Amino acid sequence: MNPFTYSHATAVDDAVRDKASHPDAAYIGGGTNLLDLMKENVERPTHLIGLNRLPLAKIQNNPEGGLRLGALATNADTAWHPEVEKRYPLLSQAILAGASPQLRNMATNGGNLMQRTRCYYFYDTATPCNKREPGSGCSAIGGYNRIHAILGTSQSCIATHPSDMCIALAALEAVVRVSGPNGERTIDFTDFHRLPGNAPHIDNTLRPGELITGLDLPAKGFEKNYSYLKLRDRTSYAFALVSVAAALELDGNTIKEARLALGGVAHKPWRDTDVEDSLKGQPATAETFRKAATQLLQGARGFGSNDFKVELAKRAIVRALKQATEMKQGPTDVFLNSNP
Ligand SMILES: Cc1cc2nc3c(=O)[nH]c(=O)nc-3n(C[C@H](O)[C@H](O)[C@H](O)COP(=O)(O)OP(=O)(O)OC[C@H]3O[C@@H](n4cnc5c(N)ncnc54)[C@H](O)[C@@H]3O)c2cc1C
Ligand code: SF4
Repeated sequence: MNPFTYSHATAVDDAVRDKASHPDAAYIGGGTNLLDLMKENVERPTHLIGLNRLPLAKIQNNPEGGLRLGALATNADTAWHPEVEKRYPLLSQAILAGASPQLRNMATNGGNLMQRTRCYYFYDTATPCNKREPGSGCSAIGGYNRIHAILGTSQSCIATHPSDMCIALAALEAVVRVSGPNGERTIDFTDFHRLPGNAPHIDNTLRPGELITGLDLPAKGFEKNYSYLKLRDRTSYAFALVSVAAALELDGNTIKEARLALGGVAHKPWRDTDVEDSLKGQPATAETFRKAATQLLQGARGFGSNDFKVELAKRAIVRALKQATEMKQGPTDVFLNSNP
C-alpha cells in the first residue's frame, strides 16, 4: 500500500473543502471497498478524508411523506430500521442479500453507491483495463467474461455494477443528495450511475469533490408486492450473476404499476421504463411476465462465457414478478437472500 495522510471531517463543508485542497484525496466511509482497492494498488489516494464523524447517520421521515437515509448510516442499520422494514421491505431484502453481516455493519450507504466493479481484470494490475488505466484496452472482451454485462456495453468496457442495494434504490426511484464545492444538489437514482461508453473509468455523474450526503425515498414503497431475487454461484456471500428488484401495485390481478430493475447485467442498475409501462393494465400472469422479460432482454448480447445470462435474466424476471404477485418467496430464495 502507498503512503497516505488521513484526516477526520466533522462538518460536510470541511470535508468538501479538504477534498478540494487535495486533488488526489478520497473520502472513506466503511472502507470495505476502498481499502481493498488500495491494497491491490488499483487506487492510490495520497490523502483520506474520514467521514464517520459527519452528522449523516440518521434515518428519518421526510415532510413530503418519504424517508431520508443518511449517507453514513450503515447498510445494517438501514436494512433493519423499522421504517425501512415496514415501508420499503424491497430495500431491506436487497441490502440483506449483499455481502455478510460483518461487512454490512461497516459499509455505509454512500460507500455502497460508490463501490467499484468486481471485474477480475480491474483488480489485476498486470492486465490491461480501460476502467483502471484509460486507453489500455479491455481484457474481459475476448477474455473470461462469465460475470460480465449483457446490456448497455461498449467496445471499451463490459463490466457490471456490483451493488444489491442500488438495484432496489433504482426500482424505488430514490434520489441522491450531494454536496460539493458549488453547493447542494439532487440526482435521480437512474441518472447517478452511467454506462461505460468510451469513458468507463467514470462510474457515475458526481462532479469533482462532491460528497453524497443522503438518499431520499419517495412515499411509495411497494410494501405489499415486491421481490428481490438474487442469483449467484454459491450460497455464501457472493456478488449477483443476475438480480431482479420487482415491485408491483395490483388491483385484484391487474397490474396498476410495475417497477423492474436488474443487477449483474449492466454497468449500472438496469431499468427499462417502456417495459414497465407495457405491464400496466395487464393481468399478473406468467404469460405477461414472460413477454415483459423477452422485451427487456431483446437487445441483450453475451460475450462468450456469459451468454447464459440472457436466458438466466429472462427466467429471473418471470420468477421475481411471480413472487411479487403471490408474495411467496420460495424456500431457496429465502435461504439465498437471508445470508445468515
Ligand atoms: C468480500 C465482500 C463481499 C461483498 N459482497 C457484496 C454483495 O454481495 N453485494 C453488494 O452489494 N456489495 C457487496 N460488497 C461490497 C460492499 O457492499 C461495499 O464494499 C460497501 O457497500 C462499500 O461501502 P463503504 O462505506 O465501506 O465504502 P468505502 O470502501 O469507504 O468507499 C467506497 C468508495 O466510495 C467513496 N465514498 C464513500 N462514502 C462516500 C460519500 N458519502 N460520498 C462520496 N463518496 C463516498 C470512497 O471514496 C470510495 O471510492 C462486498 C464487499 C466485500 C469486501
Ligand atoms: S470490462 Fe471494464 S473493468 Fe473489466 S477489464 Fe474491461 S475495461 Fe476493465
